Amino acid sequence: MNSYNLADPIFRCSEDYPDSPAIVFNGQVCSYKELATRGSQIAKYLKQSPNWTIEINTTPRVGILASRNIDACVGLIGACWAGATYIPINPKLPADRILTIFSMCNLTALIVDDEGVKLLTEQVHKNCPNTIIYSGKNPEFKNTYSSIRAGSINTLPDDQIIVPPTPMSKDKVAYIIFTSGTTGTPKGVMVSVGSARQYISTIKEWLDLKESDKVLETCELSFDFSVHNMFSTWKAGASLHILPATMVMNAVKFVQNSELTVWNSVPSLAGMLSQMKILQPKSLQNLRVTVFGGEQLPESTVVSWKAAAPNSKIFNLYGPTEATVFCMSQEIKESIPVTEGRHVVSIGCALPHNEAAILDEQGQRLGNNMQGELAIAGSQLADGYLGMERLTEERFPVIDGKRWYLTGDLAFKDLSGNFHCLGRIDNQIKINGYRIELEEVDAHLRVVCGVDMVCSVALLQADGTAKGIVSFVAHEADEGRIIAALKAKLPSYMVPNQIISLKEMPYNPSGKVNRHALRQILEYRNI
Ligand code: AMP
Repeated sequence: MNSYNLADPIFRCSEDYPDSPAIVFNGQVCSYKELATRGSQIAKYLKQSPNWTIEINTTPRVGILASRNIDACVGLIGACWAGATYIPINPKLPADRILTIFSMCNLTALIVDDEGVKLLTEQVHKNCPNTIIYSGKNPEFKNTYSSIRAGSINTLPDDQIIVPPTPMSKDKVAYIIFTSGTTGTPKGVMVSVGSARQYISTIKEWLDLKESDKVLETCELSFDFSVHNMFSTWKAGASLHILPATMVMNAVKFVQNSELTVWNSVPSLAGMLSQMKILQPKSLQNLRVTVFGGEQLPESTVVSWKAAAPNSKIFNLYGPTEATVFCMSQEIKESIPVTEGRHVVSIGCALPHNEAAILDEQGQRLGNNMQGELAIAGSQLADGYLGMERLTEERFPVIDGKRWYLTGDLAFKDLSGNFHCLGRIDNQIKINGYRIELEEVDAHLRVVCGVDMVCSVALLQADGTAKGIVSFVAHEADEGRIIAALKAKLPSYMVPNQIISLKEMPYNPSGKVNRHALRQILEYRNI
């Protein structure tokens, strides 16, 4: 089958088990029938919008300016249903960054939920596409903001007939997810329908997800882990239980009360719950599958998790957005497979339809136990970066006739065939699962400070993972002003915790900023 729509499994479930819950959030239940009906309504509306016909030969792009809740998922499914590329935009982003994403995407339409609608200030609205749809059910939504003409936002007609999702050929772009980019501009990773479809069916089988499963959602739509959470759940005909952002510290209670069977999160969340003694032995006995992914999984987190969830299989999933969510998997059985000297879990082997290799700087394969860059090939590779052809060619080279993605991760393969990730070759870091290119922070810092010589480094905790950012500026710096200015430009997790002013930046013999010396300053000052 050459065509597919990410919403196909929802359509199928709406016919086979219409009343089964597809999404549960804050005491509200959205059945498969309701999800299909509302998704199909949005699709009909989108397809009638004037721009849609003009752009018939390309894939229309629909922005989803929404948080994590039922209306956000409905909007996203509506965009898929119509045969569009969906582009999730986190409403917590500063207006500046939202406008940058708008300007890069040439959106055909925008879908907003209750949170997204509040962001449509005059300035944002001026840059929006003509078609704006409110995906929620609150009749008062137009009163929640007053700065734009209420008539320009559309609600949906009460049409109960479900039209099947629009078939999309597998080379069309299913979604674009923006990640941090070194130049100061975010990078839009374009994932095709074929890659997304491959991932969803592979992972549903790999984890053996079942119709009876109740699955935890902990991510915003703008993080590609959400693609895993939503679509693997709906492929299985199971239900997705969204953890409200305000209840993160109550995640254990949430899982207990809703009797969830599948846990999905970045390891940081489990680490935090364990550190705060919220994660108690046998507190998660109903769990049968646990997925950790998106960042290094510390051995200590697994030890407390095994005690808390004794009946659960545990998977450490690895993958960059550029290889469609996750492309490698390590199941943790009796003993914990750790990377020697690092106290983190190994990343295992490539998932079916993916291939992993360790390459040297010339793109030659390295043998077992030799360290090099981890590269991924196979049917989950993204098409590349939106509007960045050169970067796409650089990061997705064709080597001996095969297309690879160079992950930027330093890794090696051990004698048993398991891969181990040793950290980044470049200056990309992860804080609570969020991917940050430190150069992007620097690019904004230069503008805000008006000086060239700036350098940001990760603030590390005892286990070597990053908990924040410290930025050095070779000039006198007004910390309060700089941080306030950065907050208006960058997502909050990219704003430095501290600015340190230096007379001069330390350099190493090659003339590059000496990051090691900067880290020593932090140690010396006990930061
Ligand atoms: P993202 O595109 O946000 O998913 O970030 C991808 C990067 O996160 C990878 O290149 C790795 O550096 C890191 N990463 C993701 N999963 C893992 C994992 N299971 N173990 C170690 N690092 C990981």
